[in-house]
Amino acid sequence: MRILLVEDDEALGEGIRVALKPEHYTVDWARDGASALHALTHEDFGLAILDLGLPRMDGLEVLRRLRAAANPIPVLVLTARDATADRIAGLDAGADDYLVKPFDVDELKARIRALLRRSVNRAQPALHYRDVSLDPVAQQVSYRGQPVALQRKEFLLLHELLAQPGRVLTRDRLQQVLYGWDEEAESNALEVHIHHLRKKLFPELIRTVRGVGYLVDKA
Ligand code: CA
Repeated sequence: MRILLVEDDEALGEGIRVALKPEHYTVDWARDGASALHALTHEDFGLAILDLGLPRMDGLEVLRRLRAAANPIPVLVLTARDATADRIAGLDAGADDYLVKPFDVDELKARIRALLRRSVNRAQPALHYRDVSLDPVAQQVSYRGQPVALQRKEFLLLHELLAQPGRVLTRDRLQQVLYGWDEEAESNALEVHIHHLRKKLFPELIRTVRGVGYLVDKA
């Protein structure tokens, strides 16, 4: 799951990024409204955390333009303390929820889970392939009914592959799922993750399409 964090305050943004790192999310961070709108329009994110006071286009305008373009992405708005007018304006502009600064990161995580549960349940129920099940909301994988512990990147990869059975996903596409903007892709890392997934689940789960990428067959 990719999350776009939109926050111009370096300390707060870094705090959120660090807090979300251990979860199964890839977090990309935009520091102004115009870059945020560009990223949300051209790339695929599962959720946005949007500060309202931003340089180069305020958060409300970003939100209005997103909704005007019928972009349904769940948006969690961050507002300043006691700014009731901001909260109302945010909800009116199409925010799904809001948090007032300063907030507890555990509350932020809970709000994110709640928003994802709502949107993912609508769009994306649990995925099954042969004896493998992946629950995107609980972020759990099981094989033959037994839970399987996956690393964050293994989970992200498996989710992407299972969500599009029968389709070959290119190496570039998969790298984009694995790495945020700031992260350097390690060479061979993709192969290593695929190798681990095959070992933890079963070898024929993921097929290699030489020179192109990988796929999971249609069930
Ligand atoms: Ca701000």
